[in-house]
Amino acid sequence: MIIEHKKLLSITGLVAAVCVLGACYGTKAHREYNLDILKEKENIVPIAIIGSGPAGLSAGVYGARANRSTLVIEGNQPGGLLTKTSTVENWPGEISIQGTQIVKNMREHAAHLGVSFLADSVEEVDFTQWPFVITTGDGVTLHALTVIIATGANPRKLNIPGEELSGVSSCAVCDAPFFKNEDVAVVGGGDSAVEEAIQLATFAKSVTILVRGPQMRAAASMQDRLKDYSSVRIMYNARPVEVIGDGEKVTGVRLVDAEGNPKDLLPVTGVFLAVGHIPNSQLFEGKLELEEGGYIMIKGRPADTGREQETSVEGVFAAGDVEDHVYRQARVAEGSGVKAALDAESFLQEIGFNVSMGKKLKSNLFKVGTKQSGTGVRKVESLADFNTVLEGAEGLVVLDFYADYCPSCLHMLPAYEAVATEFAGEVTFLKVDSEQAIDLVAKYYVTRVPCLLVFSKGKLVGRYNQAMDKKELREFVDGFIQS
Ligand code: NAP
Repeated sequence: MIIEHKKLLSITGLVAAVCVLGACYGTKAHREYNLDILKEKENIVPIAIIGSGPAGLSAGVYGARANRSTLVIEGNQPGGLLTKTSTVENWPGEISIQGTQIVKNMREHAAHLGVSFLADSVEEVDFTQWPFVITTGDGVTLHALTVIIATGANPRKLNIPGEELSGVSSCAVCDAPFFKNEDVAVVGGGDSAVEEAIQLATFAKSVTILVRGPQMRAAASMQDRLKDYSSVRIMYNARPVEVIGDGEKVTGVRLVDAEGNPKDLLPVTGVFLAVGHIPNSQLFEGKLELEEGGYIMIKGRPADTGREQETSVEGVFAAGDVEDHVYRQARVAEGSGVKAALDAESFLQEIGFNVSMGKKLKSNLFKVGTKQSGTGVRKVESLADFNTVLEGAEGLVVLDFYADYCPSCLHMLPAYEAVATEFAGEVTFLKVDSEQAIDLVAKYYVTRVPCLLVFSKGKLVGRYNQAMDKKELREFVDGFIQS
C-alpha cells in the first residue's frame, strides 16, 4: 500500500523516511520507495557498481567508506582502459607510474575497505522497478538499491575494409612485442596515438603516425616526447581507406589525402588504431537518457538534489568515460566516481535506507561465492608439444594464447578454466604463454592476445581475438560443437 505523504513532507520540509502502519516509505521528489519490500528480496546490493576502471574503483572506495555494502561487477576488461596504457606521467602524486599499477593499487585499496568484486559482466538491467534488477552473464540476479554505471569507453574502429585482419590492433601495450623489427603504422593524431607510437618504437623497426588532417591534436608536451624516438615519423593528410593483407597478415595500408586523392600505399605489417573511443552505453539504450554520441546524460548540479552524477533515473548514477565526452581523463573519471558514490549515499539517506537498516538485512545481502577453479586446461610449451596433443585429441581442441603483460588475458583465464571443466571429456582446452612458445605463435600468425584458436579433426577452424567472459566462451565453444 502506497501512502500519500509527499504533502506532509513538503510542509515540514523534512527529507527523511516515514513509517506508517508498519511500512516504511522513503521520500523522494519523483518516486516512492517501499523499503519494506526489501525483506522479501534476496541478493540485495545497496551500491552496485558496473565497471572496474578508475571511476568504478574510486566509487567502490567511497561506497565502502560510507559503510555501505558495495559490489563492483568487474566486466570483461577489469581495470578498464588504464590497463591498456603504458607509463602515466600526469597522475598527481606519481611522477611516473604504469597504468596497470594504478588500477592494481586502487583495487587493493577498495578490497581492503571491504568492497566485493564479481568477475562477471552485466547482461540486462531493469530500472523500471525498484530495487533495480541487474542480471549477469552467469545468470546472477541482483537487487540494487543504487547503481553506479562506470562502464567506460572502448576504442573506435575505422570501418574500412581489412580492419578485421590479424595485425590490426587497438592496443600497443598488448601487441607491440609481436612487431619486433617490423614496420608499423599508428592511425590518429591524439594523445593515444603518441602513446601507441612510443610503445611500439621500442619494438618495431619504424613507426609511421598517420594523421588525417594537417596537424596533430595531441598535447604539445606529448608531441615533444616523440622527439626522443628517431624511428617514429609523422605523415600528415593521410587517412587510411583500406588495410591490405596477403590472406595471412597485413602487408600495407591504402591512404588518401585530405581531399580524398589516393596516396602511395604504405607498406606495413601492423596497424594500430588510436582514433578515439565510443562510450559503453549500449546496455542502457532506451533505459536511460543518452546524449549525442551515446554518452549517458547526467544531471549536472540539479537544484533539488544536488546530485551531479545522477542519470535520468533516480538512484542510477554514471561516472567516467561513459558519461564524459569532454575531459576523458582517468583522474577525472576517478573524481566523478567519488561524486557518484557520494550521490548514491545521499540517495540512500534520502529514501531512509540507513546503515543500521542495511545491517538488519544482512542475510538478504548479496555475497560473492567462491570462484570455481578449473583443472581441465593443459599448458603447451611448444609447437611440437601442441602437435602431439592435437594428434591424440578426439573432438575439438581450443588453444588460448595469453601473455603476462596482458591484463584481459589474465582475467579471462579463470573463466576459460571454468568452461574447460564444464566441457571436460568433450573438448580439449589448452593454454599457451605467447612469450614462451614462439614457434607456435609464428606458425599460427598470432599477432595479438588474447587469441583463441579452435581445431577440429586436426584442422584450424576458428580464431577469435577478444577477451570473453564465461558465458561468451561457453557460447563460442558450443557454436563449434553444434556446427
Ligand atoms: P582523440 O583525442 O579523440 O583523438 C582521436 C584522433 O583520431 C584524432 O586525431 C582524430 O583526428 C583521429 N581520427 C578520428 N577518426 C579518424 C578516422 N576515421 N581516420 C583517421 N583519423 C581519425 O582520442 P584519444 O587520443 O584516444 O584521446 C582521448 C582522450 O584521452 C583525450 O582527452 C586525451 O587527452 C586523453 N588521453 C590522455 C593521455 C595522457 O595524458 N597520457 C593518453 C591518452 C589519452 P582529428 O584530430 O582530425 O579529429
